[in-house]
Amino acid sequence: MHELIAELTAGGPVITDGAWGTQMQARGLAVGACPDGWNLTNPDDVQAVAEAYVQAGSQVVITNTFGGTRFCLARHDLADKVVEINRTGAEISRRAAGEQAKVFGSIGPSGVMLMMGEASPEELRDAFAEQAQALADGGANALVIETMSDPAEAKIAVEAVKPIGLPVVACMVFDSGKDLDRTMMGTTPEEAAQILTDAGADCIGSNCGQGIEGFVAICRRLHAATDRPIWIKANAGLPEMVDGETVYTQSPEGFADHVPALIEAGASFVGGCCGTAPAFITAVKERLGR
Ligand SMILES: [Zn+2]
Repeated sequence: MHELIAELTAGGPVITDGAWGTQMQARGLAVGACPDGWNLTNPDDVQAVAEAYVQAGSQVVITNTFGGTRFCLARHDLADKVVEINRTGAEISRRAAGEQAKVFGSIGPSGVMLMMGEASPEELRDAFAEQAQALADGGANALVIETMSDPAEAKIAVEAVKPIGLPVVACMVFDSGKDLDRTMMGTTPEEAAQILTDAGADCIGSNCGQGIEGFVAICRRLHAATDRPIWIKANAGLPEMVDGETVYTQSPEGFADHVPALIEAGASFVGGCCGTAPAFITAVKERLGR
């Protein structure tokens, strides 16, 4: 096991952070604007999001770089700012984390479909490596490849960033099939765990896609299929449409109620995705008696 992962998990389950997008929207990020660009234009707002999670009890905070590959940034005419946006994102979260938390550099999907030939595997590999190196240069302690639907893309991402030497977490979204236990591409937890473990990920996980209740079974299946620690970041319930807006209605306490079952199912890292906020992290911390 990677030294940092061993150090973090030695004290029991690790509390990560919650959603970022909604927190930044609350600070004025316009819907459709490039969140990652805020690292350069609104660094104080980005740092405030990370600080709120550190103060709530997060032992791990991510970076505001989910859309930081050149493919995603190109859609906002920021492809020439890949290095600056990612390095600055890591520096911002590092300032917020201080000695209290570790910083995991966030790497999201490229948004291009490999199957459709929109990019070659080599182009994707280069893009993930470029982003990850900038996150490392900015001081990230680890990397988290998250919200992946295509196991082929996730595998390329893990293999691209491994040579940097930081621990790598690799997470898929299981939001499809009648039991919400498959990725959009039809991949099962067992298949994902196998592919990501073979690719060299230090932690295997799942984030987003459904409420925390559904993650208990997914966590158990991932845990049974790999010897790597399991990382889970669940949404605050299933979204509801209210006045044309997506709303998550689960309370922090309702979310935290499911955390013991998640840990019993083998989760080593627990946090929130869409709809969660610092209050959710506080509730999880209290539920774990810390
Ligand atoms: Zn999410």
